Amino acid sequence: MSVEQAPVQRADFDQVMVPNYSPAAFIPVRGEGSRVWDQSGRELIDFAGGIAVNALGHCHPALVKALTEQANTLWHVSNVFTNEPALRLAHKLVDATFAERAFFCNSGAEANEAAFKLARRVAHDRFGPEKHEIIATVNSFHGRTLFTVSVGGQPKYSDGFGPKITGISHVPYNDLEALKAQISDKTCAVVIEPIQGESGVVPADKAYLEGARKLCDEHNALLIFDEVQTGVGRTGSLYAYQHYGVTPDILTSAKSLGGGFPIGAMLTTTDLAKHLAVGTHGTTYGGNPLACAVACAVLDVVNTPETLAGIKAKHERFKARLEKIGQQSGLFTQVRGVGLLIGCVLSDAWKGKAKDILNAAEKEGVMVLQAGPDVVRFAPSLVVEDADIDEGLARFERAVVKLTQG
Ligand SMILES: *Cc1c(COP(=O)(O)O)cnc(C)c1O
Repeated sequence: MSVEQAPVQRADFDQVMVPNYSPAAFIPVRGEGSRVWDQSGRELIDFAGGIAVNALGHCHPALVKALTEQANTLWHVSNVFTNEPALRLAHKLVDATFAERAFFCNSGAEANEAAFKLARRVAHDRFGPEKHEIIATVNSFHGRTLFTVSVGGQPKYSDGFGPKITGISHVPYNDLEALKAQISDKTCAVVIEPIQGESGVVPADKAYLEGARKLCDEHNALLIFDEVQTGVGRTGSLYAYQHYGVTPDILTSAKSLGGGFPIGAMLTTTDLAKHLAVGTHGTTYGGNPLACAVACAVLDVVNTPETLAGIKAKHERFKARLEKIGQQSGLFTQVRGVGLLIGCVLSDAWKGKAKDILNAAEKEGVMVLQAGPDVVRFAPSLVVEDADIDEGLARFERAVVKLTQG
């Protein structure tokens, strides 16, 4: 029996949704690879990737197969029982990383929430309640729960919700001296994004991460890498810590891990994991069979030498063309980032206008992102076809030309 669905439009958003988002004027209804179609049938090239989530583009056959097979098998059992896809996914992550244990949840914020709770629990158990301070970086982003906005280094996200979580300080990013001055024996964890994503696509210096590792060891503090945005191939390595050669104690992953299906993971060692004993933490949906089956398929495709090498090659393709567009238009001064997380830093004349550039790009049929008001961000599918890169950047260039000459 088919049920007639009521037509909906963008205007409905303003009537029935909580107004915490301001979505684009069009509604995407279908996607395939790096192309998306809206309600009117207009086709767009997708360099936004659902904010660094659609690691394999839209409706990748391997993911559709994994999801539909699992949908016909078992959807949910809760953590009163374990399930096969969750165990398979944990094996894959453990085999591919420093980690020996995995905790599954449903988002990046929840993965970080688990990481911060684990770090505090470890310090509490080993050293007592005094050792609970978390050091994070200015402008960092770790999610939108109260703990994660408190740790995040952007007060605009944490102000106005009553008392924040205390025992947290923020030091400038990529500034080892500032971290050195702040860290103490009361520090339980230092949390760093290997590339600051939301606040402008700012890569860490290798020496900074190496120095942070050393300082943490000296002070019995845990090093947490928030790889929610940089993880699962985004940088051309499976995780960015492997690109940098600096190993954290706890790593968080989400976004690309599910390729569009919600899942988050916290990865750590056996020695640390044991502090989250039975009953200390949990979530009903965490390790859901559907999510884990899809994530297994994502890893099977992404974590191959061919895909990872392809990401590095595609980076060069983006960078060369974007630098040319930047030089010719005067729109941006620098193209930075690693792998397929790329930021174009706007020139002084265009500072604060990233949103205008997004809107102009969309009018030419290409979806891009911003990372703060001063950076245009690209986070496309990790397997975006070269022909789609060329066509999408041609559309982007047309948008830039119209914007700068009109
Ligand atoms: C997106 C993001 C988060 C939050 O993930 P959600 O799934 O939105 O909760 C946390 N940290 C970083 C670095 C992110 O980019």
